[in-house]
Amino acid sequence: RGVRPLSDCLFCKIVEGTIPSRKVYEDDSVIAFHDIQPQAPVHLLVIPKKHIATMNDCEEQDQMLLGHLLLSAQKIAKEAGLAEGGYRLINNCGRDSGQVVFHIHWHILGGEKLGPLNA
Ligand code: 5GP
Ligand code: ZN
Repeated sequence: RGVRPLSDCLFCKIVEGTIPSRKVYEDDSVIAFHDIQPQAPVHLLVIPKKHIATMNDCEEQDQMLLGHLLLSAQKIAKEAGLAEGGYRLINNCGRDSGQVVFHIHWHILGGEKLGPLNA
């Protein structure tokens, strides 16, 4: 189903703290941390603590969580100094997008003029 906690999921381990990360935000349901291989001067990842594999696996009951995550991303981007210059918020879903970590996440990219979306 793609919603159960996975003991072999990288981002579940980051949530649990068994794999270290450079955390910039945490609340009851969401965490954000620096991407290990930044593609821009600021490259953060925002994830729900709940294991949801992809956008395809979100359900009606996740509505509050997803809304809360987006508003958290706004706060995190502001806190990172990106409000004025702007930023890109990206979710990759599935094979064609190049998603590699199957625990849903949003990339926050900014800190410079970004290239074309599909470069
Ligand atoms: P995706 O392609 O699935 O949307 O992006 C996954 C992202 O996770 C990539 O940008 C990758 O650099 C990042 N990533 C992969 N492994 C780790 C890790 O162990 N720690 C952190 N902080 N980021 C990771
Ligand atoms: Zn997970």
